[in-house]
Amino acid sequence: VDRPSVSSSSLVQKQNEETLKQEAPTNEALGGLKRKSLHENSFNPMRRFGKKHLSVTLLCDQSWCEMKTVYSIIKPHIKRKHMQRSEVQMGMQIHLARELQIKDIVPVSTSSLEDIEAIKLLNMFNMIPLLETGELVREFPVFGVQEGVFIMGVIDELMYSQKGELVLNELKTRKQNSMPHSAQDKTNCFQVALYKLLFDSMVHGEVKKDHIFRHLRLYPDQVLGEGVQAHAKSHGLQVSTFEEVVDALLMVVSCSDLPCIDLLQIEYHHQGSSELIGTRVVPFDEAQVRTDLQSHLAYWTGKREPKGVDIEEAWKCQSCLYEDICEWRKTRLSMSEQPAAHSSSCT
Ligand code: SF4
Repeated sequence: VDRPSVSSSSLVQKQNEETLKQEAPTNEALGGLKRKSLHENSFNPMRRFGKKHLSVTLLCDQSWCEMKTVYSIIKPHIKRKHMQRSEVQMGMQIHLARELQIKDIVPVSTSSLEDIEAIKLLNMFNMIPLLETGELVREFPVFGVQEGVFIMGVIDELMYSQKGELVLNELKTRKQNSMPHSAQDKTNCFQVALYKLLFDSMVHGEVKKDHIFRHLRLYPDQVLGEGVQAHAKSHGLQVSTFEEVVDALLMVVSCSDLPCIDLLQIEYHHQGSSELIGTRVVPFDEAQVRTDLQSHLAYWTGKREPKGVDIEEAWKCQSCLYEDICEWRKTRLSMSEQPAAHSSSCT
C-alpha cells in the first residue's frame, strides 16, 4: 500500500520519488551496488527496500552478517527454502507450543493495515494487566523510535521473579545439544538488549501516537473492521477507529506501574529433545547497545554501504545460504586472504 508520509513536505516527497525513479529496486540490486560508486549508492536503503520500520530480528541477522541481511531481502526465495527445513520448522513449533500453553488463538478478520496493527495493540492491552498481577505473558510486542528509526519486536516471555524483578526470557532452540559459541551468543545478547531498550522506553512514556502513525504510515481515522471492533468489545474496549485503539493502549501503559526490565536471560533448548540445555543471564550495557545499533542503522539510513564478515569471521560463510552468490565473499575475502597466504608461505 503506497501511503504518504504524514510529515513529509511535498518537496521532500518529490525528491524521494525522483530518487526512487532513478534507482528503482530490482533483483539486480546488489549487482547495482557493486557497479555504482559510493556517492551514487549513498541513498537510504529503507526507502530502496520499501521499509517503514526495522524489526529486532532483522537487526540481529545484521549483527551476524550485514551482507546476509541484504541478500535475504533481495533474494527472498533462498530464505523461503531455508525456512522449510525441518530444524527451522521444529524451532517454530516449540515456540508456538509454549505460546499456546497460556493462550488461545482467536481468529479475527482484518481488512486494512490498521486492523492488523490494532490486533497487536489489543493483545498488548490485554497482557499489561495480566503482567501487573504477576502472571507470565508471552509474545509481548515492543516498539518505538530508537536513533531516529522505528523498530518493532516481540518479547518471548515476561514475568516477575520471586525477588520481584521483571524478567525477560528469550527462548532459543538449538540443533546441537550445547550452549552457543561466542559469535552466536553476541547476536542473541544484542537481541534481548534491544528488547529492553524498546520496553523501557515504552514504560517511560517515550512512544507517542504520532510515531506510530507517521513511521508506519497508518491512518489514525481509519475505521476498524467489524471483526476487530467486536474483538475489542469482548475485552471491554469500545473503539471504532485506529486512533482510539492507540489512545487506549498508551493510556494503559502510562497508568500501569510496570517497571523497566530488571533481568535479561536466554533459555537454550535442544530441538531434538526439547530439553533445556542451559540459561544465560545477559548483562545490559546501554552505551554498548546504542553504539552497535547506531552502527547498524548507519547502513539503513544511507550513511555507508553494506559490508560482509571480516576475515576473522570468514568461517560464517561456510554455513551461509548465500555463500555461492555472495559478492563480498568472492571479492573482499579472497583479497584479504591473498597477503595472508603469501606471508604464510614465506615463513
Ligand atoms: Fe556474509 Fe559470508 Fe554469507 Fe557473504 S557468504 S553473506 S559475507 S556470511
